[in-house]
Amino acid sequence: MSRYWSALAHGLEPYTPGEQPRIEGLVKLNTNESPFGPSPRALAAIRAAADDALRLYPDPQAGALREALGAYHGVTADEVFVGNGSDEVLAHAFAGLLKHEAPLLFPDVTYSFYPVWAQLFDVAWAAVPLDEAMGVRLADYRRPAGAIILANPNAPTGVALSRAEIASLLAEHPDIPVVIDEAYVDFGGETAIPLVAEHPNLLVVRTMSKSRGLAGLRVGYAIGDKALIEGLTRVKDSFNSYPLGRPAQAGALASVEDEAFFRETCAAVIAGRERMRAGLETLGFAVLPSAANFVFARHPAHDGAALAAALRERAVLVRRFNAPRIADFLRITVGTDAQTDRLLAALAEILGPAN
Ligand code: PMP
Repeated sequence: MSRYWSALAHGLEPYTPGEQPRIEGLVKLNTNESPFGPSPRALAAIRAAADDALRLYPDPQAGALREALGAYHGVTADEVFVGNGSDEVLAHAFAGLLKHEAPLLFPDVTYSFYPVWAQLFDVAWAAVPLDEAMGVRLADYRRPAGAIILANPNAPTGVALSRAEIASLLAEHPDIPVVIDEAYVDFGGETAIPLVAEHPNLLVVRTMSKSRGLAGLRVGYAIGDKALIEGLTRVKDSFNSYPLGRPAQAGALASVEDEAFFRETCAAVIAGRERMRAGLETLGFAVLPSAANFVFARHPAHDGAALAAALRERAVLVRRFNAPRIADFLRITVGTDAQTDRLLAALAEILGPAN
């Protein structure tokens, strides 16, 4: 608290990111990073971009990257927006697209940054409870709304809606902006990008932080009708002309061009997730069906906070949210098989012989 703060700064309740501690031998399964890292071609492009040209500002519109992303997803460059991580893209969407008189709707259990941006930009919002199976029930969104945002697959549950379900949501809400946050879609979800052509109110948000192993580079993007992209660009150009530096633009572009590495690493994460799920179920955990690079699991006989703390003592870091309905769940990022084995061994020790 300081008397130098604005009323805005006083009123904020900021998002808390997962920890990035430096602990020797840590098994870090708390922030949904990729255990495989970026494409070697992306790393080479980032290194090559670290030269004298860093004297110069980067392309403010990231033209080459937007062209490449457009070609990759079958849209034009003016249907692509890029930003400093999808967090920045989403923030611009809150300011530029999602703020209306009627409330913005999103699930009660979802990415906990959404209410934070709503507060920052003074967006009216209402939480729509997930159903008993922790899924999104589309019928519950049939109510007055200024806009809708859904993470699909949802976070932190990992539960996904099909593209057909997103299409029916769009059919029911043709007149309001609908943002689908596909941060985790590459691990088994169905993307809504093909629906953009038919739905000028749909914005699909993507990130390179998870499936492309580039969380440290900070690159996110969105695909949507060019009028939506123009709205985001107006906000961006009122905030920061150069959200992506030269190494970020070059590395992201090279990552998009390395399809083989992308496919191999996504497939390895999916296989690792099923291995982790099976191991957790053997230990008595109930694991939600996940289409993401993490699982959301709880043990019927154990308190979530105690489990997370006991894991931390054993240098295994997972994420827990101290929030209604999910306080006993652990969100566990899929790591390498060796990391999963460390997790399962630690849990077996904590739970004891009888589980
Ligand atoms: N959306 C969801 C649902 C997420 O979980 C995250 C990761 N915290 C993000 C967006 C933001 O990712 P980034 O800013 O790294 O692109």
